[in-house]
Amino acid sequence: MAVVLLVEDDHTLGMTLEVALRGEGHELHWCPNLKTAREALVLHSPDLVLLDLGLPDGDGLELCRELRADGSIIPIVVLTAQGTIHARVDGLDAGADDYVTKPFELQELLARVQAQLRRKRWHGAGERAVLG
Ligand code: CA
Repeated sequence: MAVVLLVEDDHTLGMTLEVALRGEGHELHWCPNLKTAREALVLHSPDLVLLDLGLPDGDGLELCRELRADGSIIPIVVLTAQGTIHARVDGLDAGADDYVTKPFELQELLARVQAQLRRKRWHGAGERAVLG
């Protein structure tokens, strides 16, 4: 089980992802804009962020850059309709770990989320080993 922060203003997609991620046993916090997402990051210390780019109060990549500038290594999976090569490169440059273009298959998204969470756990285990 992981704590997932979903930042998505599309109600239908948000509902679908909420049901799917809870179904996988994750604790989900769903925020429809950047302002509430920033609050939820502090409040819930999520293990992973699912981040839409076109949000009512700004670009999701702003949040991505802020987190990386703060030294956060939290896995970030970007969800967006902007599927051009240019947009993908911008997303990865901003510090996203993965990029899923809408419309996507739910199964593929869930598999990508699991892959990122696995990598995070390995990283965590490595840190503990180093610290002894
Ligand atoms: Ca949107």
